[in-house]
Amino acid sequence: MNPAPIFSKVKNKVKVLNQNNCINWCGVNVYEIILKKRSGQILTKQEIQFLVDGYTKGIIPDYQFSAFLMAIYFQGMDFIEITALTVSMMRSGKIFDLSRIKGQKIDKHSTGGVGDKVSLILAPLVAACGVVIPMVSGRGLGHTGGTLDKLESIPGFRTDLTEDEFKRKLQKIGVAMMGQTKELAPADKKIYALRDVTATVDSIPLIAASIMSKKLAEGIDGLVLDVKTGSGAFMRELDDAKKLAKVMIEIGKQMNKKVVALITSMEQPLGNMIGNSLEVIESIECLKGKGAKDLMDIVIALAQEMLIMAGKVKTKAHAQAMLNNKISSGQALEKFRQMVKLQGGDARVIDNYKLLPQAKYHVSVKSPKSGYIQKLDALQIGLLSVELGCGRQTVNDKIDYGAGFVLKKKIGDKINKGDVLVEIYGQTEKVKAVSKKIIGAYTIGKEKIKPPRLIIQRMQ
Ligand code: URA
Repeated sequence: MNPAPIFSKVKNKVKVLNQNNCINWCGVNVYEIILKKRSGQILTKQEIQFLVDGYTKGIIPDYQFSAFLMAIYFQGMDFIEITALTVSMMRSGKIFDLSRIKGQKIDKHSTGGVGDKVSLILAPLVAACGVVIPMVSGRGLGHTGGTLDKLESIPGFRTDLTEDEFKRKLQKIGVAMMGQTKELAPADKKIYALRDVTATVDSIPLIAASIMSKKLAEGIDGLVLDVKTGSGAFMRELDDAKKLAKVMIEIGKQMNKKVVALITSMEQPLGNMIGNSLEVIESIECLKGKGAKDLMDIVIALAQEMLIMAGKVKTKAHAQAMLNNKISSGQALEKFRQMVKLQGGDARVIDNYKLLPQAKYHVSVKSPKSGYIQKLDALQIGLLSVELGCGRQTVNDKIDYGAGFVLKKKIGDKINKGDVLVEIYGQTEKVKAVSKKIIGAYTIGKEKIKPPRLIIQRMQ
C-alpha cells in the first residue's frame, strides 16, 4: 500500500510529497518537469521558477536538481526559458536599488581568462570619467584567476561589503568592488556549486543565466561583456562564444538593460603577469601609463563601450582622448587609491610594491632554442598557475598571493637560446616542479607569426 502523501507549504502553495518524494505543485511534479526537459520540450516560466525556488529553499533535493541541470545541458533552452531561469535566479535574493546614486551605473563582466586583470584597471579608470561602477566580482574558477583574489592580495582590502557599505562607497567615489553576498542571487551560488560537481558548468543557458542573474541583481543600467574565446577560455570555440554573447545580450534586452559584448582572444595570457599580487602590480603600472599593449588595448576597448553606453561621449575617438587624459593626469590612479583606502586596503602598495605579498623563491626559465614564439598556451599556463598556488585546487585551499609568472616573451616575439622566457615565483618545491613543465606551454619555431587578433567581434 502506498504511504499517505506528506503535506507542507511552499510559500502559500500546498506542496505534496508523494510516495517517491516527488513534489507536486498545481498538478505538476518535479519528476514531470525533469522528464519534460529531458525529452526536449519547452518549459513554462512557472515550471522554471518552481524548480529554482524549490531548490534554493532546500525543498527540492540535489539529486533531482542535478538531473534537471543535465537535461538542460543536453537539450538546451530557448531564449524565453533562459530569461525565465535568469529572472528566477535574480529574484531568489535581493536586487540592489541604486536609484538614489546619481549617474549611469555600468558594469563590465568577463567570462574569465588567464592574466585577466582588466577589472582592476577598468573600474577606477571609467569611474574617473564620471561613470558609476558597481562591480560584483568572482573568485578564481578552474584555471582562470578571480578579481576578488587579486584585490585581497592588497593587505587589508575588504571585498565582503554589505549592501549598505557598497552603496555608501559608490555614492562617495563612484566605484566599489565586492564579492557576491548571501543575499545576491543565492540561487546562483547554490546552483553553481552543484554544476561544479555534476559536469554541467559548460552549458550556454546555464552560464548565461548564472552571469546575468548576478549582474542584473546589482541594479545596473548597462553592462559591457568581455566574452573570451580560445585555449584559456571556457568557450574555446568562437561559435560558442558568439552564441553565449547573443544569449546574454538577448536576456539584457528582455530586461530593458543596455548590453554590448566584445568577443576577445584568450589564446595566450593577457598582459605579462599572472598571479594575484603580480597582477595588482601590473594593474597599477597600467594606471601609471606603463601597461602592456595587449592588456591596454582590451581595457581601452571595453572602457570606450562603457563611456558611450553611459552617454559620457558619442564617439570612440572622444572616449579614447578622455581615457588617455585620465591616465596621463594621474586621475585614474588616484581613483584606484581612493578605492583601496575606502575598502580598508593599504594604499601605500601603489608606491611600494614590496608591501604586497612576496614570493620567497624564484627561478628564471631560459629558452632551449632560438626562434619565434608561435604558441603560448593560456590553458596550460592557467593550470600551472593553480599548481603554483595562485588559485585553489579544492575549496579550502589557501592561496599563495605572491606566487605567479612574469612572461618575458609572448606570441610573435623573437627569442635566442638561453634568453629568459619566463620568471616563476612561489614556494621552492612548487616553483621547481612547475619550472620542469612550463616549456610544454610554448611552441618555438623558425617562422615569425603574428599574435592572435585580440578583439575579434563586437556584438550588440
Ligand atoms: N561565471 C559565472 O558567474 N557563471 C558561470 O556559469 C560561468 C562563469
